[in-house]
Amino acid sequence: MYLCPEKEDKPQGSHTHPPPQKNIMHDLDKQINQRLEDLAKKENLRHLSLPYSSLGKWIVVNEEKRLNLSGNDYLGLTERDDLREQFAALHPNYSSPSGSTSSRLLLGNYEEATLFEEEIAKALEHPSALLFNSGYHLNTGILPALAHLEGVKVYADRMVHASIIDGIRLSRLPFTRFRHNDLEHLTELLKEDEGKYRISIVAVESLYSMDGDEADLEALVALKKKYSSLIIYCDEAHAIGTHGANGYGLAEEHGVLADIDILVGTFGKALNSMGAYAAISTSLREYLINMARPLIFSTMLPPAVIAWSRYIFALLPQLGEERAQLRQVSQYLRSSLQEKGYSCPGVAQILPLIIGENGACGLLAERLQKGGFEVKPIRYPTVALGTARLRLSLTAAITPADLDPMLQMLESLR
Ligand SMILES: *Cc1c(COP(=O)(O)O)cnc(C)c1O
Repeated sequence: MYLCPEKEDKPQGSHTHPPPQKNIMHDLDKQINQRLEDLAKKENLRHLSLPYSSLGKWIVVNEEKRLNLSGNDYLGLTERDDLREQFAALHPNYSSPSGSTSSRLLLGNYEEATLFEEEIAKALEHPSALLFNSGYHLNTGILPALAHLEGVKVYADRMVHASIIDGIRLSRLPFTRFRHNDLEHLTELLKEDEGKYRISIVAVESLYSMDGDEADLEALVALKKKYSSLIIYCDEAHAIGTHGANGYGLAEEHGVLADIDILVGTFGKALNSMGAYAAISTSLREYLINMARPLIFSTMLPPAVIAWSRYIFALLPQLGEERAQLRQVSQYLRSSLQEKGYSCPGVAQILPLIIGENGACGLLAERLQKGGFEVKPIRYPTVALGTARLRLSLTAAITPADLDPMLQMLESLR
């Protein structure tokens, strides 16, 4: 139970406003419980999932083994003991985890980090790169830092990740959101603002995690020719590792790596590590080292974690087979669901299985979980009303045979 016992609240007269509470903790509990009840009524109360242990593509919950269709381990690297062994052989000094004990600006500037940044910059065709502790640190660090410049406005796709929204909020920059993937709408907004701003930052993701669809990066880059104030800020969190001939993301796939001004991504998903990168200009790197508070005021990643990210990043060009397997199994699941009459838009390894109402979506998720499939319902207000969905995400380790029993269940429930 999450509710705390309610104490009786005795009114002390006939004030229009409630009198100040004497017992502060009591009021805190009361308000918290009220909010939690409201969330529960709207079927939006979140819980931590049951503790589980992971066996590659399987997880074990309550002694039940389930296929993990809710993770971001897109290349199936959690299964790869061979890679961990190779890493350990290459780096015997990193066999026991040890913290960096300091911010990057104090004593956390490990050689590993600097070398890695040079490699990222080269791979992603940018003059420089900068590491952050996580994608969340990065996205809440860059825009607030840029807010110290003059004449900046942000244009964000309506579906960008919460960390970008939080970055915008912290920055207190003027901003507008354009309809999801609607560059005509964006162009209208840019036209309205023409001449008003010196720096127009367009924030997008290359692959969106709720709809599994892609931004039109080539068209966005073409817009830069028309609007010289335009700066593209593109988050490749779900595409780094999985897309592009070398695994450098959708910007690589579309041949626009060097044209994305602020090209960012995380090591926490396909790369099976922790941390994030921004591929940027040399001056922006120096500026962020001075102005990005999540970088200045947080302990640097442990050197062993940086080394592991660096090891996997260097391996990306060789993981073409894994990328091909991921594409094939995604195509198999998407077309099988569509054949059974399900609505399943998107193009990549993230498949939104649209159900509609929050309640029905939650029930279906429970049934599939009991049947051995770890799927999570994504409900309003995370997504638009009436588009509650199961977000199925695949990995290179999952095969069509793993998915067939789920497809049979979905067929019988139709
Ligand atoms: C997951 C995600 C992040 C956050 O990255 P972390 O490294 O997990 O903090 C940022 N942006 C997008 C688009 C994401 O999907």
